[in-house]
Amino acid sequence: MPRYDFRCRACGSTFEVTRPMAASGDPAACPEGHDDTVRLLSTVAVTSNAGAPAGGGGGGCCGGGCCA
Ligand SMILES: [Zn+2]
Repeated sequence: MPRYDFRCRACGSTFEVTRPMAASGDPAACPEGHDDTVRLLSTVAVTSNAGAPAGGGGGGCCGGGCCA
């Protein structure tokens, strides 16, 4: 089952959710209970690093699909 990374815009934490691909677009509440979260691009094949993606400018919103 695929794993998805989410980031909470309320508290800034990131967390992982394992869910069926069919539910990949569903909202997910963060561990703190906030529901203002965005799904990040899959990092399955990319080890997380300290640097933010270029041009993020505060969230990388468009990378998460929330601008669609
Ligand atoms: Zn939160």
